[in-house]
Amino acid sequence: MTNQQDYTQDNDKLYRYLFQNRAVRGEWVRLNKTFTDTLNTHQYPKAVQDLLGEMMVATNLLTATLKFDGNITVQIQGDGPLRLALVNGNDQQQIRALARVDGNITENMSLHNMIGKGVLVITIAPKEGERYQGVISLDKPTITECLEDYFVRSEQLQTQLIIRTGEYEGKPVAAGMLLQIMPDGSGTPEDFEHLTTLAATVKDEELFGLPAEELLYRLYHEETVNLYPAQDVQFFCGCSAERSGSALLLISDEEIDEILAEHKGSIDMQCECCGTHYFFNKEAIEKLKSTKL
Ligand SMILES: [Zn+2]
Repeated sequence: MTNQQDYTQDNDKLYRYLFQNRAVRGEWVRLNKTFTDTLNTHQYPKAVQDLLGEMMVATNLLTATLKFDGNITVQIQGDGPLRLALVNGNDQQQIRALARVDGNITENMSLHNMIGKGVLVITIAPKEGERYQGVISLDKPTITECLEDYFVRSEQLQTQLIIRTGEYEGKPVAAGMLLQIMPDGSGTPEDFEHLTTLAATVKDEELFGLPAEELLYRLYHEETVNLYPAQDVQFFCGCSAERSGSALLLISDEEIDEILAEHKGSIDMQCECCGTHYFFNKEAIEKLKSTKL
């Protein structure tokens, strides 16, 4: 048994596991520093913060099911006060997120009141090969339920997602678990149901405050669970002066001159994800243009 004091060893980790006697696979992830780093430069309303945490955990769990290198973007767009919520993560479990808010979002606002009329879009982009995009209607009360539905419909795979966000020891935390019947058809609905019923009993404080091994032991002490080595999860933006510069070149010359005049000769391109400022003056913009040609 692992010492309960050591739960932080599994902060910002993702685990995969298999049940030896049931054809079901599992994943577990907890975001601590990753989540704090994502929220760092932003003052999101609590409900938006929780939603982003939920989407981040979902993205980690989804990328961990991929059998190839690439990245997944989970995005919500709507006409409510939450205009956009976007999370992008890759097979290295590097993840970033952002939200755009335009209007008042109250503490316990429902997903549907935040989003208004909107959809959930999942884009899977392998490093090699075709992109795949799935559009999911937001007809369930939570993102987690919408995603479970997506798995059943798109992959015909029974999937359980449990995602919780909140605070633990005064710090933001988001964590979750995925159970999925093996795609080779060897799993039985009875096995799946047995394990998901047990998983559904998990408490917030167990997800937030236990090492993975101990949590799995508490839930499944009658099962043999093969736990694979953990993968680190971290916030990673990937923005650069070069990328910001390319975005700037999409604006017309007249508009650039106007902004330059308004802002004392320097355009501030701030990254929406991590808050890094990239400054461009006239000279820098001319240089960008000449290298583009
Ligand atoms: Zn950035």
